[in-house]
Amino acid sequence: MTMPSPPHRTPAVGELVHDARRDRIGEVTATDNGRLHLRALAGAEAWEALPCDVQPTTPTPWPFRCERCQEIRWQRSAALQSGDLRLAVALTEAMGVHLRHEHT
Ligand SMILES: [Zn+2]
Repeated sequence: MTMPSPPHRTPAVGELVHDARRDRIGEVTATDNGRLHLRALAGAEAWEALPCDVQPTTPTPWPFRCERCQEIRWQRSAALQSGDLRLAVALTEAMGVHLRHEHT
């Protein structure tokens, strides 16, 4: 009997992960057949990654550039804690729009 390799935990939708293959941080927007759909934090760029290539990020990857940033971040964290993934994803999109409009 061979030793099983440690199972890769598949990140949940809404988690932020570092994709070693691209050296980028992305948010998990969907998982499908073991593949992860990731999206850049600022901007709409999306890509796919394998769970074995990603690592969870530290809890504060989002910038605190203004009060609105902080507010969106706080609301999103509350949404994730309450299990409201739709709201969390909507807030992530709001954050992307905010970053593009206010901080570019
Ligand atoms: Zn801001």
